[in-house]
Amino acid sequence: MTSTARPFLNRRLAEFGTTIFAEMSALAAATGAINLGQGFPDTDGPEEIREAAVRALRDGRGNQYPPGPGVPELRTAIAGHQLRRYGLSFDPDTEVLVTAGATEAIAATLLALLEPGDEVVALEPYYDSYAACIAMAGATRVPVTLRPDPGQARFRLDLDELRAAVTGRTRLLLINTPHNPTGTVLTHEELTAIAELAVERDLLVVTDEVYEHLVFDGAEHVPLATLPGMRERTVTIGSAGKTFSFTGWKVGWITAAPGLVTAVRSAKQFLTYVASGPFQYAVAEALRLPDSYFEEFRADMRAKRELLAGGLEQAGFTVFRPAGTYFITTDIRSLGESDGFAFCRALPERCGVVAIPNAVFYDHREQGAPFVRFAFCKRASVLEEAASRLKGLAA
Ligand SMILES: *Cc1c(COP(=O)(O)O)cnc(C)c1O
Repeated sequence: MTSTARPFLNRRLAEFGTTIFAEMSALAAATGAINLGQGFPDTDGPEEIREAAVRALRDGRGNQYPPGPGVPELRTAIAGHQLRRYGLSFDPDTEVLVTAGATEAIAATLLALLEPGDEVVALEPYYDSYAACIAMAGATRVPVTLRPDPGQARFRLDLDELRAAVTGRTRLLLINTPHNPTGTVLTHEELTAIAELAVERDLLVVTDEVYEHLVFDGAEHVPLATLPGMRERTVTIGSAGKTFSFTGWKVGWITAAPGLVTAVRSAKQFLTYVASGPFQYAVAEALRLPDSYFEEFRADMRAKRELLAGGLEQAGFTVFRPAGTYFITTDIRSLGESDGFAFCRALPERCGVVAIPNAVFYDHREQGAPFVRFAFCKRASVLEEAASRLKGLAA
């Protein structure tokens, strides 16, 4: 066999060849459809934070390689944020690591903590990079499926299934709350059960909390690290992208005990080494914005959620009103449909809107088949237009 006869993409990544987001965004561009597929805001974050980035760039802060763990100003701001909001105390020097977005935090954490053959128990449907990073680490993913509760109000974690998924080979639990794509915010009770399981089976926990500020209607985000026994075994992942509407800046972080941070840094230094120099200074300022910023941001997103959820309901979808994130998962069976892939491929032609079939976030694709995800982090006028176009489906 010649070297070109073998597939270029290795076996570990073969199943992740192309993402649905590329296909759907191309479809959006080709048809002029409104793209509610990918989750990025169509308006930028606070003006004064943009100005802070400009100032850093002009003042020559961060234009050269910043320190490997992140600039001290940002690490201090991250620690301050965790203390102020959650009463969690982290040493900025040994317990905080700045990464190139949460994406690199996830990759570095899994590459650092996993041995080939380890099992990772993760909540299905999952954010697409989890499966790829587990595969790159040579580990095996073990999905625990979130399912709609009988009242179709939310997707729920079955705690017995979670416990049954843990084996002697399980190294870590990979949790995401608020959860993309279902919008579920894990309850205190669910998180307590996860924490007890982790302690009982001596597991590490990696928790992706990038939507920590996007919770609605009295739902509360409880960081796993605040629960008994969790502080020393949990890697918490955060990001500025979603909280401050600067997804292009790629500033993320982890907070964890010193041994875990040192391990993750060992992998991170050979991925990007460092990233986003001037933006790190701006995010340090963003994390210190007054509570009013976070409250207004949440209220604004809640109003957008209502706008899109109402439109989807009028169009005939079954809507799972999300308690968090900026995604709405819908069930298309109420429209007489059952295949989310086919539905999403046809949707731009049918009514000029792009959405994502949740099946792409499942190992058990059939479990996700009837669910379709819409992003509502868009201007009200865009959401209104999308809602009006979607009404055509009911006709
Ligand atoms: C968007 C997102 C990320 C990636 O965050 P970045 O900071 O843009 O890399 C990670 N996890 C979840 C659940 C997300 O939705």
